[in-house]
Amino acid sequence: MSAVLQRDSVTAIRGSVLTFTGDPSVEDSARSMRYESDAIVAMYGGLIVDFGAAAEVLQRLPPGTKVTAYAESLIMAGFIDAHIHYPQTAIIASPAEHLMDWLDRHTYVAEQEFSDQDHAREAARVFMRECLRAGTTTAAVFCSVHPESVDAFFDEALARNMRMIAGKVLMDRNAPQKLTDTPQRGYDESKELIARWHGRGRLSYAVSPRFAVTSSPEQMELAGSLWHEHDGTFLQSHVAENRHEVDRVKALFPERKGYLDVYDHYGMLGSRAIYGHGIWLDEDELARCHASGTALAHCPTSNMFLGSGVFDLANARKARRPVRVALATDVGGGTHFSMLSTMHDAYKVARLGGRSLSAAHAFYLATRGGAHALCLEDRIGSIATGMEADVIVLDLKSTPLIEHRMRHCKDIDEALFVQMILGDERATRAVYIAGEIGWTRDERVSA
Ligand SMILES: [Zn+2]
Repeated sequence: MSAVLQRDSVTAIRGSVLTFTGDPSVEDSARSMRYESDAIVAMYGGLIVDFGAAAEVLQRLPPGTKVTAYAESLIMAGFIDAHIHYPQTAIIASPAEHLMDWLDRHTYVAEQEFSDQDHAREAARVFMRECLRAGTTTAAVFCSVHPESVDAFFDEALARNMRMIAGKVLMDRNAPQKLTDTPQRGYDESKELIARWHGRGRLSYAVSPRFAVTSSPEQMELAGSLWHEHDGTFLQSHVAENRHEVDRVKALFPERKGYLDVYDHYGMLGSRAIYGHGIWLDEDELARCHASGTALAHCPTSNMFLGSGVFDLANARKARRPVRVALATDVGGGTHFSMLSTMHDAYKVARLGGRSLSAAHAFYLATRGGAHALCLEDRIGSIATGMEADVIVLDLKSTPLIEHRMRHCKDIDEALFVQMILGDERATRAVYIAGEIGWTRDERVSA
């Protein structure tokens, strides 16, 4: 630790710490997971500047540094939600027959209100609050088709100094007229938003065609160009969520080999491309995701809520061609902001498909694995010196039942499993954003 650090400017927290140094689905958790039962994480200037066993770090801290101790808790990197729609926060828990019915009856109605910047700002505030309550410090976020919705979102994220990825939805067909742009207007508005926001604070822009159903070939062409013209931007969309949707894309693009090939044709696959779902991708398509570095966002609460299907995570992560996979909520199709609840449903979806999912793998996907999927693993997703200090503190006894169950845990693996099956946002005790307290359970620091 640098000698220039002042004791008043270092934030130091002490407790049990869990982080990942590798992928527990590839190496065993003893090699890929680091657990320290009594450790200190020191943060300064937005970064983690020291981490290790408390007895060692205490000797390196500037004399007199205040150390906040969290008992019966687990300190870890903030959760990463790789696919979520902030304009849908107010329609979470709205029933529908299936994806298309849900879009028509709920989503397309709610999103029309986001042409009003005050409405968008209020929605963005509620959304940030719910992310922080859930311990989510980074998300890849769809706004609405309106540039105002993106300005409101990024304004709120910038004020909280959060690492957020977001973009204006592109849609020029098969949607209500109030929610559509044109290929050129979508391109121009996105380009202006990139100039205004991308790289500001910790914000990144994502070119965001909703999906192949709602973008014409001309819009897809321009979306691919836009992404390639702007280094470091992301591209986010949906793929193969629902069988009916897969058939519809085949009918709309009969000249293409399949759904993923539509995006491939328009240059939309590669590193920093993230697609929600991918439930119905075939072996060739998964191999293409692997080869191109394209990431899939697994959204189990949404997939069960809308009845979309059972994503085969184990198959997607197959050792000979692992696809980058992140976990995501897909609110409002998803039913929880909590990544613990999302891990819980990922476990159940795995079981429905005849597979399993270890707690270590699930926690990895929600942190370092999510960062890897987003090509951000050198900045976020783990506790290590030099990483950005987005750190959460989970209460390991957040309900009476969990407290009772934890008495019978033999080791950290069992404790993590209990947390992922029984825990939710009530477990979030504190959230540090770039080293500053962003939210605490007892007192909302940041509105
Ligand atoms: Zn989605």
